[in-house]
Amino acid sequence: MTSQAPSDSSQEFRDSLGIVSKEGKRNWIYPKKPKGKFYRARTALSILLLLFFFAAPFLIHNGNPVFLFNIFDRKFIILGIVLGPHDFFILLLAMISLAVFAFLFTTIFGRVFCGWVCPQTIFMEMVYRKIEYLIEGDASKQRALKKAPWNLEKVLKKGSKQIIFWGISFLVANTFLMWIIGPGELFKIVVAPPEEHLAELASITVFSFVFYGVFAWFREQACILVCPYGRLQGVLLDENSLVVAYDFTRGEPRGKLRKLRGVRNLGDCVDCRMCVDVCPTGIDIRNGTQLECVNCAACIDACNAVMEKTGRSKGLIRYASLKGIRDKSKFKFSPRAFSYSAVILLLTGIITYMLLTRTDFEVNILRTPGLLSQQQPEGKISNLYDVKITNKTFSDATILLRLKDPDGEIKVIGEDKMTSRKQAITEGKVLVILNEKNLKGIITPVKIAVYAEGKEVDEISTSFLGRVE
Ligand code: SF4
Ligand code: SF4
Repeated sequence: MTSQAPSDSSQEFRDSLGIVSKEGKRNWIYPKKPKGKFYRARTALSILLLLFFFAAPFLIHNGNPVFLFNIFDRKFIILGIVLGPHDFFILLLAMISLAVFAFLFTTIFGRVFCGWVCPQTIFMEMVYRKIEYLIEGDASKQRALKKAPWNLEKVLKKGSKQIIFWGISFLVANTFLMWIIGPGELFKIVVAPPEEHLAELASITVFSFVFYGVFAWFREQACILVCPYGRLQGVLLDENSLVVAYDFTRGEPRGKLRKLRGVRNLGDCVDCRMCVDVCPTGIDIRNGTQLECVNCAACIDACNAVMEKTGRSKGLIRYASLKGIRDKSKFKFSPRAFSYSAVILLLTGIITYMLLTRTDFEVNILRTPGLLSQQQPEGKISNLYDVKITNKTFSDATILLRLKDPDGEIKVIGEDKMTSRKQAITEGKVLVILNEKNLKGIITPVKIAVYAEGKEVDEISTSFLGRVE
């Protein structure tokens, strides 16, 4: 982990975790309710993201959900584009790009994702924590309630909080399942007798308990001890990365406002510990960048309020790079940041191109090898072709082939019409019959239009072998 502790502070804090007591027990964190510009911006963004999370499974386009991640049936719908097993390469590239994107983005912008967009932080800080503040009050009241004997008020407060937490977890679990199977399937499970959907009901219950356990009890430990992305910070961040940072060049030596000011030449930090009090992971950002920091910016808001009250300029804690603080320079895009951004853009471009040029059907029509042309009545001549159709959609389709150029006809061998099965490769044989007068020598180029359910989905160019004189 790239870090810079203030020059005069010890590195002892690295020997322990803020969430673990000296006796090895859990230190329950009671962060003070944040207030300020960043908290308001995060709340607004969270509302948008939560609306998206709860509403997106209900969005329908052309009879299909706009988003679906059905891992069981290997059916994925992203922005209305249906992707299945045949789109393995697109999905693989998308996953690789996402990983590369996460690495590169973190190297430049630090852990900003964690504080602003990560579902764990959003649900924890913007849903569950807000409910806790509403029922139990701010940090000091929560501590007092914990210490208080069990009386009616405590039972009501603690009980109602846990019931609401459970209700939200149940709602989240159901929405989560809708992202996987769609609202229609979930509705079928809800209305059918329970014994018909035991597995699904069991997964909803398990998901609900997991969410409840994470947000009611496990909390910040998910970010600090479990999240693999958080674990990777140590190797991803460097001194140029933008992080929530304490300006030790300006803040140190710190000192209490009344006691020491005027006695010693102190820095701007008045050692009020407001930045520590609001931290949901229980750390002191003045010790430098730490693994536990989720970049939620609560300490920025808290410190800015203190700076304002004490007549100092804001930004003692701010988004900055370690190099920027040390050299007193503004955050600049380094050549490395530019090259990383170029890679991100390139990958996004490739995926967009693949998605836009992707077709629902892939059709191959090749003349059957080893066969010459066949003479037909009325001065006509035919060639036999092998047809291979890959149907990437999730419904069967009737396929029709029509000769576009030159004039002629196509006959499906064996059947009246060709049916392409969903998510499968269908093979067949067709005869292309041309009038001899339309031949352009031994080889005549032909164009065949392919229709699925009456809609032209492809145009194939192939060749027709004429009669050898
Ligand atoms: S140090 Fe600041 S930004 Fe980091 S988690 Fe704590 S309050 Fe949030
Ligand atoms: S909130 Fe600001 S002034 Fe107060 S202790 Fe933290 S860094 Fe120092």
